[in-house]
Amino acid sequence: MFDILIRNGRVIDGSGNPWFKADVGIKNGKIDAVGNLAGEAADRVLDASGLVVTPGFIDPHSHTDWSIMKNNEAISSLQQGVTTEYVGNCGGSRYFPITEKNKRLALMGMADLFRTDLDKVSLDWSDFTGFKKKLDEIGIGVNLACFVGHNTVRRGVMGEEDMGGERPVPTDDELEEMKRLVAEAMEQGCWGLTTGLVYKPGRNSKTEEVIELCRVAAGYGGSYMSHIRGYRSLEGLKEFIEIAEKTPIRSVASHQDVRMYAKNKQLVGPSLEEILLLFDNARKRSVEIYIDILPWGGYSSSSMVSILLETKDHFDENGKRLTLERFMDQLRDNLSESVRLSLSIPIFSRFQVKNNISRSKINVQTAELNRQNTENQLRKTIEQAYNDLVSAAKNHEAALEQLRSMERSYLDTERKYELGLVNATDYLIEKNNFENSRFSLTRAKYEYIFTFKILDFYQGKPITFLTMDG
Ligand SMILES: [Zn+2]
Repeated sequence: MFDILIRNGRVIDGSGNPWFKADVGIKNGKIDAVGNLAGEAADRVLDASGLVVTPGFIDPHSHTDWSIMKNNEAISSLQQGVTTEYVGNCGGSRYFPITEKNKRLALMGMADLFRTDLDKVSLDWSDFTGFKKKLDEIGIGVNLACFVGHNTVRRGVMGEEDMGGERPVPTDDELEEMKRLVAEAMEQGCWGLTTGLVYKPGRNSKTEEVIELCRVAAGYGGSYMSHIRGYRSLEGLKEFIEIAEKTPIRSVASHQDVRMYAKNKQLVGPSLEEILLLFDNARKRSVEIYIDILPWGGYSSSSMVSILLETKDHFDENGKRLTLERFMDQLRDNLSESVRLSLSIPIFSRFQVKNNISRSKINVQTAELNRQNTENQLRKTIEQAYNDLVSAAKNHEAALEQLRSMERSYLDTERKYELGLVNATDYLIEKNNFENSRFSLTRAKYEYIFTFKILDFYQGKPITFLTMDG
């Protein structure tokens, strides 16, 4: 007598065997028998005729660790048949190891996850054991194979960018501390190390630092998974292979894709053939490397607001979560100042409009005391903002010109790199900086469009895409 009997399915058992027709009997939550169970009874019988019966799938690249504390049942994974996920990818393990230097980012992530204020969340753990204990308390619906993230560790030891993390080389003490944190995570059951070499602050690190940390993970039998430098670059893949080979460590180049995107109708990035040639050659030298693949042409997408807002912008200076209304208030009060500040900076910094909003003081009470006055001011603000935006668009042209000169310099470095006059990492860092600036400029453009939308909104025109919850 089984609790559940799955009849007539094609069983693929995951061992590499071809499929075979069999019934599967389940008792006390476990598979009890596989085979011809025609005469057996069960509380519940499922007819799987024409269907495949398999163990759960493994998702080798996931960020479920960021959301599992809220979405603990992980239904979205289970519904796709995924029962095990590799997490901590792209250099970010976020919730461990926690130090004074990276704690705030973890708290902001948590407050954002639960859509609440910063003072309503807390972390009472710092290491992987503590995080596991937390997940055990909550109870989670999938198996997680956790990796420790290089960016989390680097931020935890050297600090955020502009607070130490922007330095390419750690001090000896800092490197030792980073190694200690990786060793601790491995001892506590992590599966290895990940990097995200286009993200803060790991994008500043040199190859040697990554190798040093990989050696620690490899010492515990761990693996290495990397969101490589340049993302879609052969040079980044060469660095990845160098790390795998020199450490040595079993390594996976994360989310390689058929082709990332097309620009001016030209495909950008190396072709899969080029990537595979590189990999085949390395594997012939016994370097143990793998890739995982995105089966689609682009990368993950997000709402307009998440493009415009960083997590920190979801909170005010007291750590209170901004409601849409308060966000709109801030935006309105600071619109003209933001635009004015935008004009004074030649290359528009990535989040400057939003940062200005966050930094600025709001005085809602005053506005409420004199609503009529506010309305008049608002009308003037809108007029002024329209004018400023037109000027900003002109300045945007100048910024584009600066970007073009950056591009010339980076292409020059690229030529030097091809001639062997510049090393790959220095070349990639310059390339990454150029791409970041290009991204900032694109972003600034969206900020203008967004601001225009806000202005339209205040003039009574409909606005459809605004939501803080994405
Ligand atoms: Zn990634």
